[in-house]
Amino acid sequence: MGKVMVIGCGGVAGVAIRKCCANSQVFEELCIASRTLSKCDALKSELEGTTGTKITTAQVDAGNVEELTALIKREKPQVVLNLALPYQDLAIMEACLAAKTHYVDTANYEPEDTAKFEYKWQWAYREKFEKAGITALLGSGFDPGVTGVYSAYALKHYFDEINYIDILDCNGGEHGYPFATNFNPEINIREVSAKGSYWEDGQWVETEPMEIKRVYNFPEVGEKDMYLLHHEELESLALNIPGIKRIRFFMTFGQSYLTHLKCLENVGMTSIEPILYEGKEIVPLQFLKAVLPDPASLGPRTKGKTNIGCIFIGKKDGKEQKLYIYNVCDHQECYKETGSQAVSYTTGVPAMVGAMMLMNGTWNKPGVHNIEEFDPDPFMDALNQWGLPYQISHDPCLVE
Ligand code: NDP
Repeated sequence: MGKVMVIGCGGVAGVAIRKCCANSQVFEELCIASRTLSKCDALKSELEGTTGTKITTAQVDAGNVEELTALIKREKPQVVLNLALPYQDLAIMEACLAAKTHYVDTANYEPEDTAKFEYKWQWAYREKFEKAGITALLGSGFDPGVTGVYSAYALKHYFDEINYIDILDCNGGEHGYPFATNFNPEINIREVSAKGSYWEDGQWVETEPMEIKRVYNFPEVGEKDMYLLHHEELESLALNIPGIKRIRFFMTFGQSYLTHLKCLENVGMTSIEPILYEGKEIVPLQFLKAVLPDPASLGPRTKGKTNIGCIFIGKKDGKEQKLYIYNVCDHQECYKETGSQAVSYTTGVPAMVGAMMLMNGTWNKPGVHNIEEFDPDPFMDALNQWGLPYQISHDPCLVE
């Protein structure tokens, strides 16, 4: 049917690329373009001969708009799937505009020098994308991503209005290291060491990092401590789900992770302010990333399950309704299938599905859109088909 260009060749891209290759009727051709060409070439040689998808590779600095535009114009993909880092989002969107190519990502733009993510920079491209007749699909991972699709699905089939959403992201996996992050350590630590916040009655309520803790008994995983974080889909869901009164996001963390993080923070290792070390400027958090285990190496070691989903409370025909939609994913099963643990898997599968929605024209809405703005049904069907089946409970335990 067409060609996709995947930018980045890390943990999430590894899963998305394998899934595209398993879906070669849609993804007839795939170009892997990333900073380190040897990683792209290694993945290409591993997959060639196992798939009908024709794979090419390219070295690119995705932060360089001219270089990337030239590459997109040369390769001529229908869709660019951005699985590099959030810092490159705007440059990649610019290049897609110049080459008139659809754009998909899994994380919203974040300037490298301020640990603050917001949609405003990407939403500013709405008119330009609309005029160019191309679509930017923002946030097609799990959270953001599937959580937005679950919200649109709940609204379409079960509610007249949704008043409360709690997004619960539980990783019940154990990797055996005292401290490691499940995806890019720099992005992960920036996210969890920031202040928390939630949306209530039309405004943001800010909390100290990890100030709000709850315990939840997750289906198929068990009881876990979870903490309220700010998360990017809160911003778009607050706008796109009518009747919403409160949205919160909770993520589980073990005590060892939190103790290590506190200690690293206390000694300054999580700072993004550059310091001079032996005459050279270094960013402590980037140095920390270099000494921590590579998330890709966690695959063979991680055992247990993830459970990510949304609890909705709202009204249907004047009566109060509750609904919990979630997915449970087994780290070892994911590893067997794709060589990655479940955190990369749960992001890489919806990234492929989002690219497929644009590639085969199922979703066609020029402009810049968050995932919950599209018809959720074909995406939900594809999740079942491609390894992230959803489950529904009509009487979930609620979060206080
Ligand atoms: P990794 O660090 O494993 O991979 C990032 C890749 O991007 C690497 O291959 C890296 O190259 C490449 N890259 C970085 N900078 C550039 C550049 N300037 N030009 C070209 N390539 C570049 O990260 P993950 O795979 O863990 O995460 C990928 C994305 O997914 C992130 O944006 C993350 O925030 C997002 N994510 C979203 C989730 C969701 O549920 N929505 C959950 C988890 C992650 P190199 O190989 O040279 O390092």
